[in-house]
Amino acid sequence: MADIFDFDEDELSSKVKSQLSVGIARSATTDSFLEMADKLGDLNDQQQPVQTFQKHRSNSVISVGTIDNRLGTSYKVDLDEIYDADLTESHENSSVNLLSQEASSKTYTGRKPFRKVVIQDFEPITVLGKGSYGKVILVKDKRNGKLYAQKQLKKAAMVVNASNYERTLTERTILKKVNNSHIVKLYYALQDFDKVYLLLEYLQGGELFHHLSQERILSEKVACFYIAEMILALRHLHINAGVIYRDLKPENCMLNGKGHLVLTDFGLSKVSEECTSMFGTAQYMAPEIIKGEKYDSQCDWWSLGAVMFDMLTGSPPFTGNNNKKIMDKIVSQKVKYPFYLSQDARDLLGKFLNKNPNKRLNCDTDFDKKVRNHRFFRFINWDHLINQDDIKQPPPIIPIITNPELAENFDDEFTCMRITPPSSPIKDNMFENFAESRTNSTSSFIAIKRPDQNGDVKESVYFSNFSYTNESVYLN
Ligand code: AMP
Repeated sequence: MADIFDFDEDELSSKVKSQLSVGIARSATTDSFLEMADKLGDLNDQQQPVQTFQKHRSNSVISVGTIDNRLGTSYKVDLDEIYDADLTESHENSSVNLLSQEASSKTYTGRKPFRKVVIQDFEPITVLGKGSYGKVILVKDKRNGKLYAQKQLKKAAMVVNASNYERTLTERTILKKVNNSHIVKLYYALQDFDKVYLLLEYLQGGELFHHLSQERILSEKVACFYIAEMILALRHLHINAGVIYRDLKPENCMLNGKGHLVLTDFGLSKVSEECTSMFGTAQYMAPEIIKGEKYDSQCDWWSLGAVMFDMLTGSPPFTGNNNKKIMDKIVSQKVKYPFYLSQDARDLLGKFLNKNPNKRLNCDTDFDKKVRNHRFFRFINWDHLINQDDIKQPPPIIPIITNPELAENFDDEFTCMRITPPSSPIKDNMFENFAESRTNSTSSFIAIKRPDQNGDVKESVYFSNFSYTNESVYLN
């Protein structure tokens, strides 16, 4: 199947150069063009001098020239071939690398990327929960039966509220670059006419606190397993990805099917060494954040102390009936330890809940000297834990899963909820004109329109730089 792109690239070129962060489209005729708009938006953002578009055909990569060469020329594209510039890699390597040479030489045993994946490829099964984005839905890939947790957010909510927009984009960007078994995997970032979607690893074990709700408090032997896995996750984020998590709390700790802890919800995270803005959840927020001081990844070790205190006592160290009271206490009051906590637990908690971030235990730098051999972790063999040797270091709770589609570890309150079906894919004729978004943003959007059943014109936006497919979906 073939089709022709027929759009004014001269105009496109000049608009791209004149508008910071604004992707441009005019009379595009295929979904492939959306990807072209993505690339141009990215290139504009990154000010890359020379970039190359390349074309896939049966795993081979054919160069079709630099952007500069392409602008001002209309050209023909086969619709069953995808344009897919992986700009994360290209930024690092200063060359556009479509599904990278290395990946293209691997054997694709899954569905080959002949066409763009759309949200209609996923069949909704049940609601799993409700969070910052709205409903999180269990979906099944109709092509291969794989299950994913789908987060979705209405574009209207993103455009009206800039923080929703930034949160979604942050989550997508950070999850795209992180690869660790204790951090939820992002498989697809998709959009249709009125929503954006993140398709994530389905954490079949449900929320850690769903399991703990019956117990109320955890024994130190059980808690140390989850605290240790949180340390591994945070160390990976800090050391390997340069990410400050900023929102460690019980609700964001989930279990995978084998019972290992996995962190979710990266909307408040930040790729940075230092921050000043106030982010987080009051009960678990470090004092330096509340005081408006400059802070760094040490804030996550405070939150870890607060979550550990919560696990061992049934509530976080400072509580109150409003955020102001809680925050005042965090800054000014001493932590009171209940009598039943062991000396080992008190010692470790005291080191995490030190109000001075410079004196607080730092599990990134002090792991070998002060953490690994701390008596609180005497039940943990870190090597077995790191290798996920479940025979030698078994997770304390093994979720019961008879059929993953039944979402047995999720509350009925959610699994009984109604599911709203996705709207329609974005089509070429929806691009009408150029619209400027926020110039400081890392992404941009383009106005799109379509008539509804009554013939009234509905407006929405297309987010350039948003769509993403994790290469692992094509591999064994
Ligand atoms: P969030 O929007 O991340 O706060 O998620 C809201 C709720 O959806 C969570 O509390 C979980 O119950 C559920 N949820 C989120 N992510 C996943 C996932 N990857 N797998 C299974 N359930 C999830």
